[in-house]
Amino acid sequence: MSFQFDPRQYIRTVPDWPVQGVQFRDITTLLEHKLGFRQTIDCYVHRYFEADIDAVVGIDARGFIIGAPIAYELRSSFVPVRKKGKLPGETVCESYELEYGSAEIEMHTDALKPGSKVILVDDLIATGGTMLAAARLIEKLGASIVEVCAIVNLPDLGGSRKLEEAGYKVFSLCEYE
Ligand code: IMP
Repeated sequence: MSFQFDPRQYIRTVPDWPVQGVQFRDITTLLEHKLGFRQTIDCYVHRYFEADIDAVVGIDARGFIIGAPIAYELRSSFVPVRKKGKLPGETVCESYELEYGSAEIEMHTDALKPGSKVILVDDLIATGGTMLAAARLIEKLGASIVEVCAIVNLPDLGGSRKLEEAGYKVFSLCEYE
């Protein structure tokens, strides 16, 4: 059975949001589509089913929506990477640059065992800053990243190239120029 699937037919593009000049790729329309949502999750489940994944790490917040069902189907655990200040236990923290200023994300220190095999999931890769910071968190805990994956990749913004140069395998279901 093939799980080739192009989610672009279900993704809405919102021009000039959140600021003038940005073409925002809105995956809520994909999630609303019963078959589109299922096919999206199935693509990842099919790809990683035999990879013996210990944990799916999802990035706050849209990475949770797709990461949790993937983890459930892979019979793996789900680990959230959250914006700073949301996790109650002891955390590791990484900061990364935004267009204006910087942001911080955290993960619980005991969320991953050293040597465990994980995939890292978010909805979209743009400059790659968010994904790279999350990958650094995972490495701080000594886990091994099988692949970093997203629904959408925007290669012109350089994130996927940066991630590959840092040594990560990158997988996305579709790209926009
Ligand atoms: P990056 O750190 O520049 O790669 O930006 C990726 C992060 O910003 C992800 O967590 C995305 O959810 C969010 N993001 C940036 N642009 C878009 C977009 O067009 N649609 C949806 N999310 C976006």
